[in-house]
Amino acid sequence: MISLDPVLTPQAAQTTDQFFESGGLLETHCTAEEINFELRPQQQKMARAIADAASFGQHLVVEAGTGVGKSFAYLVPQILTALEHETRCVIATYTITLQEQLIHKDIPFVRKALDRDFKAVMVKGRSNYLCLLRLQRARRSGSDLLEPEREKQLDAISTLANNKQLVDGSLQELDEQPDHQVWGSICAEHGNCTGKRCPFYKECYFMIARQEMMDAQVLVVNHSLFFSELALRAEGAAILPPYGYVVFDEAHQMEQVASGHLGIRLSLYMVEYWINRIHSDKRRGILAVLKDGKGTFMADQVHEAAETFSSPSAITLNSEPPKPSSAYSHRRPSKPTFR
Ligand code: SF4
Repeated sequence: MISLDPVLTPQAAQTTDQFFESGGLLETHCTAEEINFELRPQQQKMARAIADAASFGQHLVVEAGTGVGKSFAYLVPQILTALEHETRCVIATYTITLQEQLIHKDIPFVRKALDRDFKAVMVKGRSNYLCLLRLQRARRSGSDLLEPEREKQLDAISTLANNKQLVDGSLQELDEQPDHQVWGSICAEHGNCTGKRCPFYKECYFMIARQEMMDAQVLVVNHSLFFSELALRAEGAAILPPYGYVVFDEAHQMEQVASGHLGIRLSLYMVEYWINRIHSDKRRGILAVLKDGKGTFMADQVHEAAETFSSPSAITLNSEPPKPSSAYSHRRPSKPTFR
């Protein structure tokens, strides 16, 4: 657990103790809901340690085995502290299963037991949302951009959107997952978003989700989104609104995810993916639509160069240690731009 804004929270610590003690809010609520209750000294100890760390602005690492009741032990003190100081807390996990358990089960339970009014949302990255403007453009371009099978997927998504059958407009709610290329041509993207000038601005799934995130006090995210946002912040942008506290659950996977986002990675697959988005060898893509001969020539050259670069014979070992990526800069912009 990392506290980013040192504050004193004696009330939150007291309420945390009362929540977990014998005859406290947890036991009372479990009894009322006919849920088995078990007094767990390790859970009490962990919750109090987190409340104290938040109070004194300290970092804390906790290792706790199965059955301790970790999620309640961090949710209760973090939520109480965030509410007391009118800030937000971020809960970052590795798996979607745990995020869903927190959002649909644990947080509603804690909200009811504490009898406190707060909003919690699961934050997804921008590219998880359907962009209605890009969908309209992709459909107009039709077969010039996509092959017939992929065009069918586009039609299916378009029908769902037109019939208002999508709830949050995210990739995760589609029963049939579209091909990467199809989703890549219609998902929300920072560079392609026209913001308030967009004719779909008021009904935009991503903008609605972003507003809900701004109104929430508890943000549940995955490690990947958290570290990609950290890298963005170093460049003066942001995904998340300001927050005061972060809890990392399932932290054993964190190091790998962090290095993936804060380091630099290049693969032939990634280069091919981006080149194919603008020009495929089947003469499809935006360059074919624009009849841009020079652009097509350059795209082919990039493709060839990437293949040569990634071939085993092209790899040489450099005795110089690599320079750190600029994403490691600790410069924190005073006013990040939200993406
Ligand atoms: S506001 Fe941006 S993301 Fe939303 S539909 Fe318009 S262009 Fe797409």
